[in-house]
Amino acid sequence: MAHLAIAGGEPIRRTPFPRWPFWNKEEVEAVQAVVESGRWGAQQGGEVRHFEAEFAAYQEAVHGIAVTNGTVALKLALTAAGVGLGDEVIMPGYTFVATATAALEIGAVPVFADIDPHTYTLDPASAEACITSRTRALLPVHLGGRPADMEAIMALAQRHNLVVIEDAAQAWGASWQGRMAGTLGHVAGFSFQSSKNITAGEGGMILSNDAAIGEMARSLSNCGRQPDGLWYAHYVLGGNYRLSELHGAILRVQLRRYPEQLARRQANAAYLEQALSEVPGITTLRQDARVTSNAYHVLFLQYHAEAFGGAARERFLAAMHAEGIDGMHLGYSLPVYRQPVLRAKNFGLATPPLFSGAYPQMPDYSRVAWPATDRACDAEALWVRQNMLLGERQDMDDIVAAIVKIQSHCDELQE
Ligand SMILES: *Cc1c(COP(=O)(O)O)cnc(C)c1O
Repeated sequence: MAHLAIAGGEPIRRTPFPRWPFWNKEEVEAVQAVVESGRWGAQQGGEVRHFEAEFAAYQEAVHGIAVTNGTVALKLALTAAGVGLGDEVIMPGYTFVATATAALEIGAVPVFADIDPHTYTLDPASAEACITSRTRALLPVHLGGRPADMEAIMALAQRHNLVVIEDAAQAWGASWQGRMAGTLGHVAGFSFQSSKNITAGEGGMILSNDAAIGEMARSLSNCGRQPDGLWYAHYVLGGNYRLSELHGAILRVQLRRYPEQLARRQANAAYLEQALSEVPGITTLRQDARVTSNAYHVLFLQYHAEAFGGAARERFLAAMHAEGIDGMHLGYSLPVYRQPVLRAKNFGLATPPLFSGAYPQMPDYSRVAWPATDRACDAEALWVRQNMLLGERQDMDDIVAAIVKIQSHCDELQE
């Protein structure tokens, strides 16, 4: 008789984890009110303006500029911070592709450093080794909601006169040494895309404490307008990256609910990480007292095949899914520097000087290989996604029970 569900046994559970997005009648009523007001654009209504102020206040930042998505937030943040054609931007390779494409879209050059294998965020020593005379910016990613080592990164930036753009796309409510994500560098980009912990389907926000950067980001997002200028007067090459009132209304409701959800994710994450510390073969990331709030968009597990009879991570994951742990995920299976778009330099017409070879120092990404990044993508990382952490204690116990069960019967994993 098989024990594991993947081999025909009984699964640990049959009930799904909490759905995402979460909504209730508050979102419905907020959207209905906007529709019936007839004020659907942010020039007419107040939802986006209020959300900007409320989110900036929550992150303890001065300037908040709502935009259409997190990719655009990063692109405009880079531009507003003075990054442009041929400027090298140092970033980790273990991230969503947009961290790099935001730079490429403005003609800047992504340069990849390794991650710290114990935190999955940018390794400051590796970043330092990547600095050249063309380096203009550092782009740390607060991956999974865990702030990068901003103490070391800001010191590095100061020594080399670099600007720091935080990819805070996953870092709502995260803090480092008591300071909120989005205020740790010079400017930051957040995302409200449908998988994110605060969402309106799409959406993004630029935060900065620097007035000049904030004003430029605002203008870039609003067709190059200036605050006191005429509606049809345009001063810089910007675009229309504004968010609609429908998005703003949903996001305000989501933000009001957020602190309670964050506390729930953090409590469940602490419980799960503690329980998993007893399980051989599965490790969690390093506890660092300087991470004063982790937003837990993802709780990362590190899989060690030797503790599971040598079964590949993909096979283990399939067994977890069969046990009913349906939300667990492989995560980024390619480092960004191995993405086909970078390998083949398929940059289209967006960045002609780079595309045409006018920039001789363009990296050959096929030569980039970083051990911690490659290992996370190829063999090690498993993602417990944020919606799973909104569950009950029993849900966390089921995750642990499924892992222990698979380990005890790992001979059944053989195909
Ligand atoms: C989601 C995300 C982005 C891009 O945000 P979108 O809103 O999807 O454009 C950028 N970086 C990271 C790390 C993300 O998770």
